[in-house]
Amino acid sequence: ADRAPLLDVRGVHVRFGGITALAGVDLTVGEGEICGLIGPNGAGKTTLLNVLSGVYRADAGRVRFAGRDLLGLPPHRIGPAGVARTFQNLALFPTMTVLENVMVGAHPACRGNWLTSLLPGYTARSERRATAEALGVLDLLGLADVALHRVTDLPYGTMKRVELARALVLRPRLLLLDEPAGGLNHDEVAELGELIVRLRDTFGVAVLLVEHHMRLVMGISDTVVVLASGRRIAAGPPAEVQRDPEVIAAYLGSP
Ligand code: ATP
Repeated sequence: ADRAPLLDVRGVHVRFGGITALAGVDLTVGEGEICGLIGPNGAGKTTLLNVLSGVYRADAGRVRFAGRDLLGLPPHRIGPAGVARTFQNLALFPTMTVLENVMVGAHPACRGNWLTSLLPGYTARSERRATAEALGVLDLLGLADVALHRVTDLPYGTMKRVELARALVLRPRLLLLDEPAGGLNHDEVAELGELIVRLRDTFGVAVLLVEHHMRLVMGISDTVVVLASGRRIAAGPPAEVQRDPEVIAAYLGSP
């Protein structure tokens, strides 16, 4: 029998006043799979990520993740449930060091809250363990040398890797990436692609990759899902999706 996918999105609707951002979207992501989510501007990609991370509420539909219902969980419960995300615009603490930014994600007593040391349950030992974990992730992402640098002093491409590191110390089973290639140069995009594949291979983490950079998406995704005006218009292996007439039409703006 087929095993249930890690992430199973069914019939998700989201409306903002008169605007229907998602009109019944279905999507599945298997364990350790890289799923590219593409579509023209306003298709609903970021809205879907916001639903999956508890930022927006769906008006209808179901989301199962690792055998449990994800819809309705508040954002601070989503991370511990195994889903981590990065943002289209960097959401780092610019004046804190790389290590401090990553530790925000790492502390077991309070994932996502930076007032770590004020917490009941905070101990020097848990702090040390979290630090070791964070340093391991920094090493893997090639950030060990800048661990003590302030984020604001780093090149943009490096900052983006810091955000990835912060998401990874949660040890997620699913990583939601919102346009990670945005603002990166050609070489950085190529490196990012290799890095995402390496993270999947190393941690077995599944990735839902929202991205406009077609070469990146088509190059590393196992499956590509295409949204247009809040609907799924195609899903399948990259090569198949790329030659789908409806997908081509959506990108060319045909009626
Ligand atoms: P892009 O590629 O440009 O980031 P997208 O596919 O991520 O686009 P969304 O940002 O999800 O698209 O937007 C989908 C639709 O929902 C758009 O019409 C957008 O204007 C609308 N929308 C998104 N968030 C809100 C909000 N908070 N309030 C009102 N409308 C919203």
